[in-house]
Amino acid sequence: MSEPLDELYREIIMDHYHSPRGAKKLDNPDISNEGKNPSCGDEIEVALKVGDKTIDDVSVACKGCAISVASGSMLAEAIKGKSLEEVKKIASTVREMLKGNQVELSEEMGDLEVLRSVNKFPVRVKCALLSWTTLIDCLESLENEKKTKTSTTE
Ligand code: ZN
Repeated sequence: MSEPLDELYREIIMDHYHSPRGAKKLDNPDISNEGKNPSCGDEIEVALKVGDKTIDDVSVACKGCAISVASGSMLAEAIKGKSLEEVKKIASTVREMLKGNQVELSEEMGDLEVLRSVNKFPVRVKCALLSWTTLIDCLESLENEKKTKTSTTE
């Protein structure tokens, strides 16, 4: 028995899977990072163009199951044009949500609400998390890079 809502969620996930947003590779990204989910075989590369404190462009290249690809596609859609602070907040909110914690989603997070349904399938949580943990790694390396830069000029 599936509820109509689940059916809608499934459709949104399949739509992202069949036409992933942000799949176009970036030339000279400022930062990129690869992630793997061995339990399912999903592989991902997240690349970012970072402007003055905003994510100017993003590419997400994902080979994997529908959930991992759809999650990466939603990520690309959700973070493009956002400030680094906002993106960090979105990423940690999604991570908490996927862990099953109660979180408030703002409207601009759009389709990400759909990922809440992944909770019902514990084996799929890692698939949905992959793009987000890869993104968080990117953001952390960016910050470390900045720190190194400041410390060398001092
Ligand atoms: Zn997967």
